[in-house]
Amino acid sequence: MSSSPSDPANKARGQVQVEPLLCKSCGLCAEYCPEHLMKAATDIPADDREGPTLNPSGHVVYLIHDPDGQCSGCGICATACPEGAVVVYRRAAFKSGAGPQRQPAAKEAGK
Ligand code: SF4
Ligand code: SF4
Repeated sequence: MSSSPSDPANKARGQVQVEPLLCKSCGLCAEYCPEHLMKAATDIPADDREGPTLNPSGHVVYLIHDPDGQCSGCGICATACPEGAVVVYRRAAFKSGAGPQRQPAAKEAGK
């Protein structure tokens, strides 16, 4: 992975990981992401994704596809996921070495 400041991954304020074994292909993360970054793995170019497109249960895994570094780290995808399959990391958190922030949008909504 590049560490160049111009790398889109360094622009993004959020990083998203999906636990493939938990994904049930409901598509809610894709429906609610305001940046339209969550997609079925089968709709992401092979060069832009890692891992299998199907999980052992036969569900197409959903993943983030963020080639332009648009993820804000808002956490809406994690909040929308009924399976708890999505973890959002925010830039401040992963810079400091802190752990992942699960469903941060829900926490902020309760402020
Ligand atoms: S954290 Fe927000 S912007 Fe990033 S993929 Fe999830 S819903 Fe989209
Ligand atoms: S909301 Fe969760 S279970 Fe549904 S497609 Fe997205 S990651 Fe998979």
